[in-house]
Amino acid sequence: MGSKSGFKETEVQEIKRLYLEEGRSYAQIARIIGRGSETSVKNALTKAKVNRSSEGGKSLEKFKPGQKFGQITLIKKLVKSKKLKYHAACDCGYEFDVEPYLLTLSNDHKNKVTTCPRCKARHK
Ligand SMILES: [Zn+2]
Repeated sequence: MGSKSGFKETEVQEIKRLYLEEGRSYAQIARIIGRGSETSVKNALTKAKVNRSSEGGKSLEKFKPGQKFGQITLIKKLVKSKKLKYHAACDCGYEFDVEPYLLTLSNDHKNKVTTCPRCKARHK
């Protein structure tokens, strides 16, 4: 290979849109565009550095260091436990480990974590 994909810039934009926004497969895109093949569409997307790998079953990665939930900031992902856990810091300065999804529960959920253990004790 080494030859260009043959898609015009506007076609590449359309391919990107179909792929990312509509979630079309390579073969579907080739059919919609009316040109190219599954392979050439794939190559065009690779060349445009487009990938959809962040979607579909990788929801675990929705938590990132620096992310803030109320007064809790995630600092570092912990790998020692089987569950996804983060080392986190409260606005009060106290640091503790937490399962980040507990921070995302609805406010009336009994397991919802909104503060660090220290603040929780203080507010009783
Ligand atoms: Zn606190």
